[in-house]
Amino acid sequence: MTKKRAFKIFLTLIFIAACACCLYWLKGHSAPQLIGQAFFKVNTTEKIIALTFDDGPSPIFTPQILDILKKHIIKATFFVLGEKAQKYPELLKRIYEEGHEIGNHSWSHRRLIFKSPSFIRREILETDRIIREAGYKGPIHFRAPYGNKLIILPWILKTMDRPHILFDIIPKDWELPSPHLISQRVMDELHPGAIILLHDGDGDRSNAVTALDGLIADINKRGYKFLKITDLLREHNEK
Ligand code: ZN
Repeated sequence: MTKKRAFKIFLTLIFIAACACCLYWLKGHSAPQLIGQAFFKVNTTEKIIALTFDDGPSPIFTPQILDILKKHIIKATFFVLGEKAQKYPELLKRIYEEGHEIGNHSWSHRRLIFKSPSFIRREILETDRIIREAGYKGPIHFRAPYGNKLIILPWILKTMDRPHILFDIIPKDWELPSPHLISQRVMDELHPGAIILLHDGDGDRSNAVTALDGLIADINKRGYKFLKITDLLREHNEK
């Protein structure tokens, strides 16, 4: 092999590695979305935030979370999974009857990257259908599993005229940090317009539930108001 040919192969390999790194970075939950509109937070100086719960509903944790929200008289947004929502329509009913918003977090929580457009559409539309069948009449925003997006999902959301709702405060409750650490992670990053990611389903969410009561009290003490996602986005659109 000539030196020139070896150099060309080397450059090609570097290029492929760079593309792979770029794709890996772009699929991440904090990477920018290349198509359509994505919200990681809302730009505002007002002390308003949104509390969001993913991966439910869960017959164990969702009712406990709803009780805590009711006690503090605050509203939140629940990004539910279609396959779970189908099993527990009465929990969906309780969520919206208590004034909270319901979002769509896909049907099966599979990563919606490197999947066909028809698969992705089905994951979204079937979950919408179950949410509507439970009697929910409010807006249904979408959040991708793991916040993964790349190209096809954002393009599909754009054709549906739906923004992608992500998050910018991630206390990583799925790693089961102590309730104290969950609260501390949120409080350290708290800022106007934040979207906080917690979970009510698909695993042991007991530490997040234990943290929640004190966390809401701490956020209140700092003078913040809790809004549902649609109300937080309205703040953005009215600017
Ligand atoms: Zn999730």
